[in-house]
Amino acid sequence: MVAYEERKLWNEAIETLSRDEIRALQLEKLKKQVTYNYQNSPFYQKKFDQVGAKPQDIRSFEDFARIPLMTKDEHRGAQEESIERHGNPYELLACAPREKIVRINSTSGTTGVPTLYTLTQHDVDVVNEMHARKYWRAGIRPGDVMLQALSLSMFTGGLPLSQGIMHMGACVVPVGIAGGTKRVLDFVRLTSPAAIIATPSFGQYLIEKCPELTGKPACELGLRWFFCAGEPGGGNPAVRTVLAGGFGARVFDHTGGGHAFHGISCDEPPEQFSGMHFVSEDHCLLELVDPDTKAPIKLKDGAIGEMVFTFLDWEGGPFMRYALGDMLRIIAQPCSCGMPGIRFKIVGRADDMLIVKGVNVYPEAVKSAILSFFPHVTGLFRILLDAPGPVVKPPLKIRLEYAHGFAEKDLPGLEQKMMTYFRQEVRIAPEFEWVPAETIPREMKKTKFIEVQEQ
Ligand SMILES: [Zn+2]
Repeated sequence: MVAYEERKLWNEAIETLSRDEIRALQLEKLKKQVTYNYQNSPFYQKKFDQVGAKPQDIRSFEDFARIPLMTKDEHRGAQEESIERHGNPYELLACAPREKIVRINSTSGTTGVPTLYTLTQHDVDVVNEMHARKYWRAGIRPGDVMLQALSLSMFTGGLPLSQGIMHMGACVVPVGIAGGTKRVLDFVRLTSPAAIIATPSFGQYLIEKCPELTGKPACELGLRWFFCAGEPGGGNPAVRTVLAGGFGARVFDHTGGGHAFHGISCDEPPEQFSGMHFVSEDHCLLELVDPDTKAPIKLKDGAIGEMVFTFLDWEGGPFMRYALGDMLRIIAQPCSCGMPGIRFKIVGRADDMLIVKGVNVYPEAVKSAILSFFPHVTGLFRILLDAPGPVVKPPLKIRLEYAHGFAEKDLPGLEQKMMTYFRQEVRIAPEFEWVPAETIPREMKKTKFIEVQEQ
């Protein structure tokens, strides 16, 4: 037996399975799951009926790809219909009897009606296991204190995350962010955390405010890990460098809350971002499809497509071929960190995609490119459109802020460097409109990247 401190993985038996072994395990679980979904949910039964299939017809991943996709609108529709007809939100979607359902989480739900995740104790255990796998890979061990500085409400990065940390034996301090920056820093002093979990933008803000509020720089807080969550900045090399330097900590990006899709990055090499390691493949079948035609895209190195996921070995609300609109890129090459499994990068949202001279442009990619010039820029920007997308008449107009203290006379030089970078990395030549820091409104919730201007 290897002492737990030296064990590199939480669940060695599963996490080191070969590609073929994991695919075989997925297929075996998939066959059981589709039968279960069909038998227990009118919503999923209808999906099979639409193509005249029965669960026993699903013998391969290709067979399964015939089942129609499930969309967020359908999810919301089924929730509403359930409430109307049965007086509860999960009657049509949940597959477990009501007395087995112990938790309901939701997406952040900043736009429209929140979509719900329904979990039994078994599902809660699966989510806990995934959190344990992620933090264990990053080097967290029992005895480490983790400060959870994220919104703690219904959001899946709230309670499910606290529970997952407890499950692996580490100590969570669910301080939240509702009490403000000072309170977070007070709890750093009071509880001596080794790690903090926060959005990258909150992390940058802490670095800025720390000397004023505590009398010392953030690198003296004693934090050894910074875990990015809730927004994509954790995948940006420039942001990672700022966080790593500012806190004197190792920086990890991770995703996954009250559901079955979980990943965590590694910090090798630290100045780069090589995607997140997909840690939950035994409970989540990932497929990629073309965002327009919805045709399947093979899951191989370099493939980009809209992610479609299916929960495996899941009881409560086992989503099946759910297309949430996130675009992923797959990295199947072995990682230099030595950790097993395939990796993915979240490219952006399919419905935010713009087309400029035939090039697909995601606002997330624009954000990432702009952030590469931090701290000369604040990172805040808006894409200005004359008419709704996705097709944009070139050039793409971007309004962006230069940072406090950046001399206006140096803007042409900066713009030239950015233009070169945009041509290479985003493959477009945008038109920049510079504004001083704090011109673009800051939004507490989901940031709006695109603004359609009235003519
Ligand atoms: Zn790695």
